[in-house]
Amino acid sequence: MTLVLADGSYAATVLDDLITVALSSYAAVCSVLAARSADGRPRRAWATMAGALGAWALGDAMWLAYDVVLQREPPSPSVADIPYLAFPVLAAVAMARFPTASTRQSRLRLLFDAANVALCLFLLLWMLVLNRVFDEYSHDKVTFSVALLYPVLDLVVLTIAVVVLARAEATQRRELSLLTVAIGLAALADSAYAYVTVDGGYGTGNVIDLIWAASLAVFAIAALISQRTPEPPKQAVSVPSNTSLWLPYAPLLLAGTIGPPLVMTGFERFIVPLIVVTVCARQSVAAWENRRLLAVAADEALRDPLTGLANRNLFHERLAHAMMLRSRGNRSVAVMSVDLDDFKLVNDSLGHPAADDVLRRVGQRLAGCVRTGDTVARMGGDEFALLLEGRVDDSHLIAHRVVAAFQEPFTVDGQEMLMRPSIGLAVAPEGEPDLEPDTLIERADIAMYAAKRARSSEVHTFHAEMVMTGPDVVDLGESRRPSADGAAQIRLLGELRHAIDHGRLDVVYQPKLALDNGTVVGVEALLRWPHPTLGTLRPDAFLSLVRQHGLMRQVTDLVLDMVLDDAATWIALGVPIPIAVNLFAPFLRDTQLPDTLILALEQRGLPAELLTVEITEDLVLSEVAMVTSVLRRLREHGIKVAIDDFGSGYSALSYLRDLTIDEVKLDGHFIASVATDTRAAAVVRAVIDLAHDLGIIVVAEGVEDAETANWLQQHGCDVGQGYHFGRPMDADLIPGLVHLAAAGPDR
Ligand code: C2E
Ligand code: CA
Ligand code: CA
Repeated sequence: MTLVLADGSYAATVLDDLITVALSSYAAVCSVLAARSADGRPRRAWATMAGALGAWALGDAMWLAYDVVLQREPPSPSVADIPYLAFPVLAAVAMARFPTASTRQSRLRLLFDAANVALCLFLLLWMLVLNRVFDEYSHDKVTFSVALLYPVLDLVVLTIAVVVLARAEATQRRELSLLTVAIGLAALADSAYAYVTVDGGYGTGNVIDLIWAASLAVFAIAALISQRTPEPPKQAVSVPSNTSLWLPYAPLLLAGTIGPPLVMTGFERFIVPLIVVTVCARQSVAAWENRRLLAVAADEALRDPLTGLANRNLFHERLAHAMMLRSRGNRSVAVMSVDLDDFKLVNDSLGHPAADDVLRRVGQRLAGCVRTGDTVARMGGDEFALLLEGRVDDSHLIAHRVVAAFQEPFTVDGQEMLMRPSIGLAVAPEGEPDLEPDTLIERADIAMYAAKRARSSEVHTFHAEMVMTGPDVVDLGESRRPSADGAAQIRLLGELRHAIDHGRLDVVYQPKLALDNGTVVGVEALLRWPHPTLGTLRPDAFLSLVRQHGLMRQVTDLVLDMVLDDAATWIALGVPIPIAVNLFAPFLRDTQLPDTLILALEQRGLPAELLTVEITEDLVLSEVAMVTSVLRRLREHGIKVAIDDFGSGYSALSYLRDLTIDEVKLDGHFIASVATDTRAAAVVRAVIDLAHDLGIIVVAEGVEDAETANWLQQHGCDVGQGYHFGRPMDADLIPGLVHLAAAGPDR
């Protein structure tokens, strides 16, 4: 856009024109390249921008043609004005096509922002340029309109650019800032041109030419640095960028501080700019405070409140991002799924506050296993997930750290407790560039379930056979779908509920014999489930379901009813037989338990002395303080208390010290080798002596042969129970057995 001045050299003019055409064409080509390397909305935006810059280049070429061919400057208006005017129109469309972050800002606010920016820019333009142009051409409306058209159109583009920039995604802020600068420079040059042409002050090589050149150069740079930026994942709460806070006020600040000194006189020239500055500052502070609140809300929406770890949403977001980066090259992504085994048990036996404490510590340990940049999330309940991303695949190393982290016990309420995790690992394979994030999580889960089924705390790494093998068929299509195993468990649970509701559980009785004279001193009630198709099930097959699904109360009530009814029947037959029942450990925290039992006994006219409750050692240990009062009240009423499976845990001695009990039942595994293993024998002997010193009866469980029975008898063990003496049997066989034993040869 140079004028051939009367005294200007023709060569210089043509050179200037050529440089201008070259620059605008180069900027257009850069935009085409930017469009080709982009996807989605940025691609369309850059394509349109290429059109806009192409129009500019076409205008420059026409100008060059006027200068070279016709050797005169184009008239005003000329055909060159058509492509020149197409530039701001297309540039406006291009800017509007760039994607903006979906903030919670209302459309109304957007509208006001745009109006504010446009009005302030126009005011600036008017005060600096247009009022002079207006004064000059007040007689010639057509010339004035043409002079006005370029700066005003530029202003529209600039307004759109500022508003889009204020709402830009972080990833696009750099190129959009450059584009805004380029548009601003073009607007500046066009306005300056309108200003100086009023008195013919424009000439070739004028600084205005440099501003146009600078504008084109910045367009080219913006196009060159624009890169394929993937659409960022959607966020639960989006925090506006800092730019979006101050940018809409920038034009007001400019107009409000530059304008008054230009058009006002006296004192007001300083006061008005000051007021504008304070108002802008005040608005920015308010906006900034809003932003901080939003940031807090956004953070909370993505954190698990209990552990402070990432929550499921954040995990999915980060994983999606990691997978996107992976598809752009050489980064590894792995997901580890960690699920605590039998956590329900911890919850039931220790209570929620302690269980929460365990979860927090588990979270801390997991966080200690990963590298910076990895993500640890609590996905819900006792499920955790780790996202491992980086240049190299360290996932196996980290998996082993996680395994090691669980080898130390957790200290809760002063008690040490081992937690066992099931750990599944899935690494996104290089050969599957299109792998979906959700699929990777599902694979980690499948591997985790495989670990759980294997009851192994080693890491299981996902492999394709896990999806296809035998009974563990898992469908990859749905997340967290239970395996065939899981499905069978769910069916079993349904049947169990049905059985409980209809009282279709059974109890069998195993005799306990005095070792010195062979009399039956009592029986232990053992639960059975006569399953319609699977045959009679032993407790091991279904008690975990009972525990995990809140059925303990119903099962216990059912068992107590059956047992006490049987006891009453035996008494009616003239054989009062002491009965031991097994209780779920959590019941010992139930302060109502003693009253419930006493009432049940009284209703049937049974003496409390007939009843023994057996409690399992390892579970009660963790809450000695809580259960002692319940135990004491049971014993006050005459109900006996036995420690079951004694010797299978590790703190047996403190247990004997802390709890007042009537009976210990030595675990079957513990006594199985007494007759052959001198060390085991020494321990059992010592326990028998210790128990006797404390006035506690010793019962040996799982006695399978005469040799063991003899050894136990010789070493003072009081009572024996096991297949050697009698298998668990139906209630109606018991009275006969008692008579038989009483009439046996030993008597
Ligand atoms: P437990 O209290 O230790 O019961 C003894 C278990 O050892 C019984 O298994 C019994 O059948 C088995 N047994 C008895 N003598 C021998 C022997 O000589 N050799 C071997 N190898 N085993 C022997 P069962 O009936 O399968 O019960 C398993 C566990 O289920 C019980 O272990 C008990 O902890 C629990 N349980 C049983 N009935 C109930 C109940 O009504 N309520 C609750 N809460 N738990 C129950
Ligand atoms: Ca027992
Ligand atoms: Ca036992």
